[in-house]
Amino acid sequence: MTGNRIVVYKGPGEVAVDTFDYPKLEVPKEVADHFGIIQKAPHAVILKLVTTNICGSDQHMVRGRTTAPVGQTLGHEITGEVVEAGEDVLFLKKGDICSTPFNIACGRCRMCQEGKTGICLNVNPARPGAAYGYVDMGGWVGGQADYVMVPYADFNLLKFPDRDAALEKILDLTMLSDIFPTGYHGAYTAGVTTGSTVYVAGAGPVGLAAAYSAQLLGASVVIVGDMNAQRLRQAESFGCETVDLSSGNKLVDMVEQIVGEPLVDAAVDAVGFEARGHGEGADEAPATVLNDAMTVARAGAGIGIPGLYVTGDPGAVDDNAKEGTLGVRLGLGWAKSHALYTGQCPVKRYNRGLMNMILAGKADIGKAVNATVISLDEAPQGYADFDQGAAKKYVIDPHGMVG
Ligand code: NAD
Ligand code: ZN
Ligand code: ZN
Repeated sequence: MTGNRIVVYKGPGEVAVDTFDYPKLEVPKEVADHFGIIQKAPHAVILKLVTTNICGSDQHMVRGRTTAPVGQTLGHEITGEVVEAGEDVLFLKKGDICSTPFNIACGRCRMCQEGKTGICLNVNPARPGAAYGYVDMGGWVGGQADYVMVPYADFNLLKFPDRDAALEKILDLTMLSDIFPTGYHGAYTAGVTTGSTVYVAGAGPVGLAAAYSAQLLGASVVIVGDMNAQRLRQAESFGCETVDLSSGNKLVDMVEQIVGEPLVDAAVDAVGFEARGHGEGADEAPATVLNDAMTVARAGAGIGIPGLYVTGDPGAVDDNAKEGTLGVRLGLGWAKSHALYTGQCPVKRYNRGLMNMILAGKADIGKAVNATVISLDEAPQGYADFDQGAAKKYVIDPHGMVG
């Protein structure tokens, strides 16, 4: 094997497809040096990508809103076929098609043993938790590519039971690497259960996945808020109520019109630190969604926060926000005894159950988020269209394996 095409960050607003070396069964040198482990990774596999999706999390980097360096490889939503397995990989073999949680986890540390795979202690010199193709996440090479190396493969990979059935449902199963579990985690940690009324901020793919998951969990009403009309229509396509935050109406009033009171049982922030204020053409106001969630969530509610918040944002609106300090009205949440759930979604906690729902025909997540297939060469255009707010979840198909 020789080359490997990968999507790479080239500077604010720009990505390109570059050719790298074919991946090796090795952990990044910085990880090996920091943790005093050998670089050779007999626990790893090489996957040939079947699908790899573009994510709102990638957009934070591509918009220049993180400290990602030019040359950063991209892609953490990985579904692939095993084409090579290290000698310590016991339970996967060539030809297996697997979903890869975006969290890289060692399977050996205290956090992994507790199921907290989003904050594994052994995979990133900078902080707990790692991911493929992401700034400050350990230097692991991205998976918007032809091939990618996945370490600790027996632990990390979720093998699909049947190859043909998997390929048939691939546009649903591809969402298991991130947004379906992440949206589900948002709704689940917010306490959504039978009969709940729910507010989901953000109608991007994560918000739509959270809304869809809230329905799976039995919510009676799911309200999705955004200022992007096309994305709100997408939410309505599977039975959500919507509120348009560019309308100038107050969120609490719009919620009251729908549920009969200005409160909901659970709220999910599927926006994060690039949140905009309310009203037509409003500027960025990074604490908006957190404050909205505390405003509309009833006392005792849970607030799931899959939306990403950062510790360094060169493009932030003010000096405080540049280091992740936001104008959050915590007094309000405290007074209402809210529970706030932050951080990377521990994908492994949910992906098997959600896979079973997909394979049993009980979760049409690909349709809910409008999965849209593109080639690897079309990735730069996909990034541009997604940045413009297309109501689509772009699924890259590097080898033409999607039927
Ligand atoms: P996206 O950028 O496509 O969607 C965000 C949406 O929020 C946009 O449609 C935007 O118009 C809307 N928005 C902006 N301000 C708003 C406001 N005040 N109220 C309501 N909506 C508002 O991104 P995505 O792919 O859907 O991801 C959403 C967030 O989830 C991102 O921050 C992403 O980084 C994060 N994420 C986190 C995890 C995790 O594990 N925690 C995993 C995946 C993604
Ligand atoms: Zn993602
Ligand atoms: Zn670990």
